[in-house]
Amino acid sequence: MKQKVTGLKKEFQEKDVERLRNLIQGKHGNKTRSSVGFSKADEFHAEGDIWEANGRTWTIKEGIKQNITKLDKAKRAHVMPLLCPNCGKIMKKRNDKPAYNLHKKCFDCVAMMEHEIKISGKWEEYTNNLHNQQIDHNLEEFKVFVKEKLEESNDSFISEDGDVEKWVGKLDKEKVDEYMNSVIKYAKALKK
Ligand SMILES: [Zn+2]
Repeated sequence: MKQKVTGLKKEFQEKDVERLRNLIQGKHGNKTRSSVGFSKADEFHAEGDIWEANGRTWTIKEGIKQNITKLDKAKRAHVMPLLCPNCGKIMKKRNDKPAYNLHKKCFDCVAMMEHEIKISGKWEEYTNNLHNQQIDHNLEEFKVFVKEKLEESNDSFISEDGDVEKWVGKLDKEKVDEYMNSVIKYAKALKK
């Protein structure tokens, strides 16, 4: 594991944009390598570790250092009720979970709904909407990521390669805005 201390002024670099593009495309879950970061005390932490620093509880998820509160919120958003809000049946099939996450109803209800959409000739419009929703969702995730990154600009950072990099100095806010805009533009271009 390498430890790098980069420059006096760490800026948003091209590889950050690459990372953000991956986030936008939802690729951050594809990583198999376990990334390692470290807290201010130079204590090493691996993916999934939980520790306290700066009065907050932190973990590393998908290679990104995050505070637990945020993760809890994200988790809560994916809690599935026992019964389908649409038909009232118990949701226990493997397909119910992804169906519920996306449509807030059980797999059978989604299948029925999609069947009707197909008949009505609005299938393309429907799938395009889903596609765009996913991009919006990833873009929101990206904005949170950037916000946290700005807040942590003097802290450590885990690079795509799993190297530990220390952020020295403040981020260049203008540069961040510039890249933010480039990523937003990129996301919009992916929309149908
Ligand atoms: Zn249902």
